[in-house]
Amino acid sequence: MYPPILLAVMCSSALLGQVAYSPWVETRSVRGLTIYSQFPLQDVADVQTDLEYLAEDIETALGLRLADRPVCVLLFAGRREYDRFLKERFPDVPYRRALYIQRSGQAFVLAYRSSELAVDLRHECTHALLHSALPVVPLWLDEGLAEYFEVPRAQRAFGHPHLKTIRLWANLGYVPSLSTLEAIPHMDAMDANKYRWSFAWVHFMLHGPPAARLELVEYLQTLAQYGVPRPLSERLAARLGDPRRAYLDHFKHWTR
Ligand SMILES: [Zn+2]
Repeated sequence: MYPPILLAVMCSSALLGQVAYSPWVETRSVRGLTIYSQFPLQDVADVQTDLEYLAEDIETALGLRLADRPVCVLLFAGRREYDRFLKERFPDVPYRRALYIQRSGQAFVLAYRSSELAVDLRHECTHALLHSALPVVPLWLDEGLAEYFEVPRAQRAFGHPHLKTIRLWANLGYVPSLSTLEAIPHMDAMDANKYRWSFAWVHFMLHGPPAARLELVEYLQTLAQYGVPRPLSERLAARLGDPRRAYLDHFKHWTR
C-alpha cells in the first residue's frame, strides 16, 4: 500500500476540501492539468504521455490560448471508488464512465482505472481545456474536437478509428449535414453517428483546405472574445464556395 497524500490546495475550492479525505497516493502537474491519483501513475505511463502534450496540441491545432488555471483531474482506483465519490459529491450529474464537470469556476475531470482510461482522459480533458479558453462551445464542435483529441496524438490525422467509415461513406458521395449537427440541442440528442460526423467536419477543417482551418480558428477566436460568430456551415460556404465538394475531395484522397 502507498501512503495517502492529502490534496494540496492547487485546485482550491470547497469541493477539494472535501476531496482531501480520499486516499490519493500521487499528484502530478502537467501543462494545464493537475492530476490526483488513487494509484501510482507509473502503472499507466501511456496515459500520462499524451496528457503532457494535450494542452499544447489543442493550442497549436486551434490557434487558441488556454487558461492558466489548471484543470483538476481525479483518477480513481476502480469503478466502486468512482461511483461512491460521484454519488456523494455530484449526485445531480448524469452517470458516465468519465466526466468533465465545472463547479464554482473550477474544472474537474473524473475517471477510474480501466482499459479505456487513456481515451476517456484525453476526451474529457479536451472538453475541460476548451472550456477554460471559451465561454461557450457549440455541442457538436465540443464533441467533434474531443473525439479528435481522444486518440494518441500520432493517430489523430491518419489513424483515427472513425476515418474508415467516414472515407467509406465519402466514396459513396455522402456528406453529413453540418447545419444539422449545428442544430443539435442537447447531449441526449447525440448518438454514435453524430459523434462520428462531428469528428469528420473537425478533421476536414484541421486537415483539409487551409481556408477551412482559418475559418475554424477565427470562429473560435470570436467565441473566446465573447462574440457571437456566424455558424461554421455559413462561414465555410462563404469561404469555400462548395464545402460539400471540398469535404468529399478531402476524404476521398486522405491517405498517408
Ligand atoms: Zn464528450
